[in-house]
Amino acid sequence: MLIVMEKGATAEQIAKVVQVIESKGMTARPIPGGDRVSIGILNNKGPVDHAIFMGLSGVKEAIPVTRPYKLVSREVKPEDTLIRVGPVTIGNGHLTLMAGPCAVESERQAMTIAEKVKLAGAHIFRGGAFKPRTSPYTFQGLGEEGLKILAKVREVFEMPVVTEVMDTDTFDLVEHYADILQIGTRNMQNYSLLKRAGQSSRPVLLKRGMSATLDEWLMAAEYIMSEGNPNVMLCERGIRTFVRHSRNTLDLSAVPVILRESHLPVIVDPSHAAGYRDQVIPLSRASVAVGAHGLMVEVHHAPEEALSDGAQSLLPKQFEELCRWADAVHVLVNR
Ligand code: PEP
Ligand code: MN
Repeated sequence: MLIVMEKGATAEQIAKVVQVIESKGMTARPIPGGDRVSIGILNNKGPVDHAIFMGLSGVKEAIPVTRPYKLVSREVKPEDTLIRVGPVTIGNGHLTLMAGPCAVESERQAMTIAEKVKLAGAHIFRGGAFKPRTSPYTFQGLGEEGLKILAKVREVFEMPVVTEVMDTDTFDLVEHYADILQIGTRNMQNYSLLKRAGQSSRPVLLKRGMSATLDEWLMAAEYIMSEGNPNVMLCERGIRTFVRHSRNTLDLSAVPVILRESHLPVIVDPSHAAGYRDQVIPLSRASVAVGAHGLMVEVHHAPEEALSDGAQSLLPKQFEELCRWADAVHVLVNR
């Protein structure tokens, strides 16, 4: 159930509704909107009687929420969520470009790539310090040293940084250095990690699990939001199918559905979907055309030497080309 307050409802009227909800053992989650406040009811064990709320002053209506997810849904919050990270706003009609290597490998590597992607037009730098690798024998990331390098990139190039947080053990450490916390495809249903991310003040980029349905993905985002963190972005990064011409299959049909169902910004990562660099620019164009708020792309100045995901990493020149295409398509579809 969602309690929608009248325009100009007072803080006392809102507090009274919250108190009534909580007195019944449920959780109240006020959601500030464009011109009025709504209050979501969570943790109800069964249907909630809307008559209780209609009698309270300042209440406009009590709407049953039909979707299993609540805080992430457009039913509960019709306006798009904007996420502010340093100088960047995500979800506000501009296209946000996040770019960088799969993994931070050295200071020289990160600084070289950062300089190039910044010049090309990237807004946010990406790079993993803790890497979830399929094989335990491959490069696992530089850990804290990698995080310190990311902090240096932020300082020198004035770009916020996004990096993956893999577990609750290293959460505090990653949270200390990162501007945006990435939760990877393999962790989309790691509920203790999602809950911890929900207690963070940092925005979260939640990648879609490689075999997750949209409901499962939105429910994972609901875990984060239900702990109090409203700043969640959803990142489509390809799903596991039977094909062999690409690493995964970029599910672009998810984008319009998510935009309809949720107010959260949608980012597309064509790199992990494709697995091969020649597919990344065409898939980026399509992602922008279908309505993504941003792209996250892997770039490396010497991909043949990359310690992870070299085959899908664009050369800096190709990233420049991608930026030109992305802007052109964005202008075209938003005209
Ligand atoms: C990554 O961004 O480098 C990564 C590991 O992504 P995913 O979780 O989508 O595989
Ligand atoms: Mn990668």
